[in-house]
Amino acid sequence: MSDKNNEENIATGEGERVARRVKRSPEEWQALLDPHTYFVTREAGTERPFTGKYYQTVELGVYSCACCGEPLFVSDTKFDAGCGWPSFYQELAGAVEKRIDTSHGMVRTEVICAACDAHLGHVFEDGPVPTGLRFCINSASLDFQPAETGL
Ligand code: FE
Repeated sequence: MSDKNNEENIATGEGERVARRVKRSPEEWQALLDPHTYFVTREAGTERPFTGKYYQTVELGVYSCACCGEPLFVSDTKFDAGCGWPSFYQELAGAVEKRIDTSHGMVRTEVICAACDAHLGHVFEDGPVPTGLRFCINSASLDFQPAETGL
């Protein structure tokens, strides 16, 4: 899902990751995404637990943003948190941003795609070693690409 008119590549210096920004209007996202993916990623919805397509996935591969395709997580940081959503203990460097979310009477840390601001899920501090973090991510926000020969 790349389109030169809606992307801006910002060179951050030699040898550094190029920050990719994808900007689209709500109407453009609505036209590109199915209604459930739009609800989760662009309206900060939450899929029902134990219903998403990836909470049980154990294959090797890369999980990218369902909206913009940016790689977000890899399978070797995925673990079974028993909560019914795909869970990871670490993000790919620079791939996500965090912000405080006070909706639904709770104070949580929302996780969004650094490239396109898609709502991904939340991060909690009850994860496993080595980070102690649990990124609780909606399957609908992810697009999994299996690795054929390992990572
Ligand atoms: Fe994205």
